[in-house]
Amino acid sequence: MAERWRRCSACKNDIELGAIHWVCSVSTCNRARTALVFCSVDCWEIHLPTERHREAWAIEERAPLEPDPPQGTRSKRKTRKTVGAAGEAGEILVVASRLKAYIRGVSGYNTSDSVLPVLSTALRKICNESVANARRAERQTVMDRDVPRD
Ligand SMILES: [Zn+2]
Ligand SMILES: [Zn+2]
Repeated sequence: MAERWRRCSACKNDIELGAIHWVCSVSTCNRARTALVFCSVDCWEIHLPTERHREAWAIEERAPLEPDPPQGTRSKRKTRKTVGAAGEAGEILVVASRLKAYIRGVSGYNTSDSVLPVLSTALRKICNESVANARRAERQTVMDRDVPRD
């Protein structure tokens, strides 16, 4: 039997040591005192209305394999991965791993996670223009030709 690390901040289910769980991208949700953790992206979404984040996404993390030290310094051994936040204007629309692989492939460079929301905003703009073009053509399907390309 795995040992409990913490409880989910939303549903209070156990998050076991070494378990995949989710944290909020917003720094105020990650202060040592608050330190919200969630057992699922659904549970992460529950806190959004109360916190009123302008832009937020869930970050997948793995719980440490040992219990937290008594004074609450959080483990640095974490893998970070950005996934789409549902429902919000700040939803991430790009697959982080593929984007990073592409940039690494063409340049050898790393990509900061902070690029993802900015690129998503740019994508949303293109999508909105595409929808407007489809509407103008009285179609309810966005086609390749609706996508502005310049
Ligand atoms: Zn939960
Ligand atoms: Zn939050």
